[in-house]
Amino acid sequence: MTMPEAQPDGPGDAGDLGRRRLLGYAAATAVAGSAVALRPSAALAATSLAETSSDVQTVADALAAAQESAWGGFSNGQIPSNVLTAVPSSVAGSGFLRDDAARQFFSMSLAFVQAVGRTLTITEGYRTYARQVDYWNRYQAGTGNLAAYPGTSNHGWGISCDFGAGVETAGTAAKRWMDANAPSYGWQPTGNGFSRPEPWHFDYSGSWTGPSSANATVKPEDVDTIILRCTGPLSEYPVAGYTVLLGVRTLRHLSNVDMVNSMRVIGTPYYELDWVGFYNVLSALGIPRSAIRAEADYFWG
Ligand SMILES: [Zn+2]
Repeated sequence: MTMPEAQPDGPGDAGDLGRRRLLGYAAATAVAGSAVALRPSAALAATSLAETSSDVQTVADALAAAQESAWGGFSNGQIPSNVLTAVPSSVAGSGFLRDDAARQFFSMSLAFVQAVGRTLTITEGYRTYARQVDYWNRYQAGTGNLAAYPGTSNHGWGISCDFGAGVETAGTAAKRWMDANAPSYGWQPTGNGFSRPEPWHFDYSGSWTGPSSANATVKPEDVDTIILRCTGPLSEYPVAGYTVLLGVRTLRHLSNVDMVNSMRVIGTPYYELDWVGFYNVLSALGIPRSAIRAEADYFWG
């Protein structure tokens, strides 16, 4: 399927040819040429809009609703990866979230590990426009799962996650914990309300306040970091009280408590974990234990 050169601009847009190519199925040709093209006539298409909002019934409504989640002047699914924050994810190329959503994900994943006893995995986070077009076309052809109309999924804004680790199944302890606790981290179990429920789908509801680097008190290299202090000895470095700074991209040994306190002053999240929890977090972040070494400043990055 050929991708259109640009996504539709919104209600009333005359890009019928683009939409026809996008829809990519026989029914599209029957509704082309008028505003009717904006309105999916098939039940298949109507339910596919659920990922944007359970109340949305038409493509025009979905596009309008999607704009409410827009940020940074970017187009849905066309956000440069260097303005997103990397997170572990199993779908290739989807391991990114908006920076505030990622920060809250890491905080939440720490609590999840402690409460549920396993790492909170992301199946899919950020979704490119091209991938959404592919999903949509496969859904329309009856060969794929539920998919939002291209340009309307919150995955394309870097503020949605599909979680694994048991969260994908209603009734599990993992799902119950997430429904009860994720909202306090700004992650809402919106998938529960879809026309076809998706227990694994969560949307981050915090409003974007601009790039973190705009905050002059936080150095760019410190963005997305958390302080994680292991209260027990590690086999790789058997000294009680071992302290590290864990970021998305770096794992750093802090040689004295002053460094820890200087980070806490500027609001860097701080956690203490026993070594079991500590190793769980390393695993959640995809950091190999072999990255832990003594007598080094930056261990990993
Ligand atoms: Zn999803």
